Amino acid sequence: MRRLFLNASIRNKIIMITCSISFAIALLMSTVLGLREYARISESFNDRLTLEAQIISDNVGTALLFQDNEVIKETIDSFYVDEAIIRVKLFDQEGELFFESTRNTQYSSSLESTFIEKRVVVDEELIGELHIEAVNFQLNEVINEIVEMTLINLSVSLLLSIGLAAVLQRLISSPVIKLYRTAALIAKTQDYSLRVEGKSDDEVGQLSSMFNEMLVKVEQRDEKLERLVEQRTLELEKLADEFRHRAFHDSLTGLPNRALLHERFDLAVEHAERHKNNFACLLLDLDNFKTINDTKGHNYGDQLLIEVANRLKSTVRSEDLVCRLGGDEFVVLLIDLYSEDNLKKALNKVIGCVGEDFYIDDELVKTGVSIGASFYPEHGRDLNSIKRKADVAMYRAKEAGKNCYFIYTEDMQEDVRHRLMIQTDLNQAIEEEQLILYFQPKIALAEKQVTGCEVLIRWQHPKEGFMAPNDFIPFAEETTQIVEVDYYVLRKACETLSRWKKNGIENLSLAVNLSGRHFTDYHVVHKLQEYLFEFEINPTRLEIEITEAVLIDDPEIAQLVVAEINKLGLRLSLDDFGTGYSSLNYLRTLPIDCIKLDHTFIQRIDMNMQDKRLINGIMSMGKGLSLELVAEGVETQAQLSILQEMQCHFVQGYYFLKPVSESDFLDWLASCDLAQLLE
Ligand code: C2E
Ligand code: MG
Ligand code: MG
Repeated sequence: MRRLFLNASIRNKIIMITCSISFAIALLMSTVLGLREYARISESFNDRLTLEAQIISDNVGTALLFQDNEVIKETIDSFYVDEAIIRVKLFDQEGELFFESTRNTQYSSSLESTFIEKRVVVDEELIGELHIEAVNFQLNEVINEIVEMTLINLSVSLLLSIGLAAVLQRLISSPVIKLYRTAALIAKTQDYSLRVEGKSDDEVGQLSSMFNEMLVKVEQRDEKLERLVEQRTLELEKLADEFRHRAFHDSLTGLPNRALLHERFDLAVEHAERHKNNFACLLLDLDNFKTINDTKGHNYGDQLLIEVANRLKSTVRSEDLVCRLGGDEFVVLLIDLYSEDNLKKALNKVIGCVGEDFYIDDELVKTGVSIGASFYPEHGRDLNSIKRKADVAMYRAKEAGKNCYFIYTEDMQEDVRHRLMIQTDLNQAIEEEQLILYFQPKIALAEKQVTGCEVLIRWQHPKEGFMAPNDFIPFAEETTQIVEVDYYVLRKACETLSRWKKNGIENLSLAVNLSGRHFTDYHVVHKLQEYLFEFEINPTRLEIEITEAVLIDDPEIAQLVVAEINKLGLRLSLDDFGTGYSSLNYLRTLPIDCIKLDHTFIQRIDMNMQDKRLINGIMSMGKGLSLELVAEGVETQAQLSILQEMQCHFVQGYYFLKPVSESDFLDWLASCDLAQLLE
């Protein structure tokens, strides 16, 4: 019952309460009235009997005195006219029953008998006692009438109260129901512009007004939030645009960079194939730029680079591409060349435009340009080989006294010789352990601790001397030799970790660079398993650095290999971040733990506000994706301070230590005062 009441709607509750109350009142009233009527009838019945007993006793007194039964009987019988009297007894002075008569007609009643006793007195002398037994038949009828009336009363009042309650409950329930319906509609539609209608001054009216006020506030907050989200989305989109632009353009000159060159090269190839045509790749290097930079300062050098970029852009046709690779190196793709003569004309124009006087800060400066040129498809079908041919030709131009151009010919075998030498000697270098691991520390800024090293390879060549990776890795990448080189480095790195562990150095990790070549099959995963097992290495101590280029050739298989490496428990870093194609996408889809900001970002961080803002954006995005951030190429205190301010997690760079041999690294580790360096 209670549950039924609790679950009923407010409308039904009001009806139930009203009906219960009116039912109770009707019942009470009927009971009181019934009882009163009962008492009244009982009282008049008693009065009547008492009077009749008095009359009988007055009339039978003398007859009792003379013991005259006849008279007594006659007198008493005459009183049976009253249907209530059923028995009369007369006792004499001694209390002996003298006379008794009983109504001869049968009666049946569930009512109890009433007894009246009356003394019989003659001349003030007690001569006997009269007992009358009577039944109040009228009372039965009265009780039935009362019950009937009560039932009618109850029914009428119930019907009336249901009718009235059903109409009047609306005064209370209707505003509450309106409030409820509005709230339910808002919950369903999330439309906070809805309002509860109707006004009254009672509590429900006040509740509705308060509810409406609350809605106004929610709506205002919603609008504010929407505006904020819109603004944030715009900011993010702007940042993403800037980031995209930065990823494909050089921040100093605004020219396309290496990443865009790759893309445009592919388009140029498609175009050339479709039109059965060729195009040229020019590699430009400014003459004496280093001297200008050293004597006039970096700012001056930068302005000269901007001017050169502008002149190059205005000299070539709009469909051609001018891009800056870095430093004073530019690449130009000249599309749709029909003959070598056309190329020569274009080359002369370029030499002419760069050879004209420059005025920087109102100061005259002269420079020239050495250009190497190669043709697609004659000198190669991919950017690397075609660029290398242009590079060989460009060195020829430099050797020939600068400010001139050379078009590649097969007799320029220097590059080929070098490549052949590298490729021939590399296998032996691995066997004879001429490849040496160099170490560069990675420092956690907050903890002020060296947490590990990046492993960078060097080649101690018996004839050519000490070689940096850029002198031989690109050639090794052309063949599968890079795979063997990397296995060598991986194995040596694991061996080093194991040795350090034995010597008590347990908390350092090593990061190894892997070439994109490994990401076309699972072999590297098996090798990693083998080395981890052989040297009992905790996988979290080994980190793999990959570049975005790794993922470009066959993204699907590359992603699978990356996932397998991740499953082994190794940490993965995305190297040279910001120089590639679609970095943001890779971050979302790959199990990367860390991003390494390319050193070109860091180099200008203290000079270029745009770079600083961009790095800040990358940092917050990286933090949002729970990625660790390493800033590469930190060279100055100023760069470090900005990175500390930005709460970059890790730093690496010449400011702390250049890549050095193992023993030099361990000496540095034992003696360096990081607290002072990080002050
Ligand atoms: P990376 O992985 O981005 O390595 C960082 C490069 O930045 C290293 O050049 C390092 O010497 C240099 N560097 C570090 N701090 C600074 C600084 O403060 N300023 C400047 N300007 N440069 C800094 P490195 O040793 O010449 O290596 C060049 C690249 O060769 C590496 O770039 C990596 O991609 C590749 N490499 C090196 N070792 C291996 C290897 O074992 N396997 C493969 N596949 N690639 C390797
Ligand atoms: Mg690296
Ligand atoms: Mg790097």
